[in-house]
Amino acid sequence: MALNCPRCGGDKNRVEHQGKEDGQVIWTVHYCTACCFTWRDTEPALSIDSTKRRKVFQIDPSHPERFGVVIPPVAR
Ligand SMILES: [Zn+2]
Repeated sequence: MALNCPRCGGDKNRVEHQGKEDGQVIWTVHYCTACCFTWRDTEPALSIDSTKRRKVFQIDPSHPERFGVVIPPVAR
């Protein structure tokens, strides 16, 4: 089953790690290779469900020039 990234909606994801207990997988960490978002499948829907996330946190990785500046450049 294809898994879509909660932030960009892409399907270029890989499993980074799985937490196991008694041999059973109880959580999985995914990484999106398109936008570098990482999430655990047990996080709240507000964080990992694209229909419930605030739209301000969604990105389109095909247009990086539209990304907001999250860390100000260092003054030189
Ligand atoms: Zn993504």
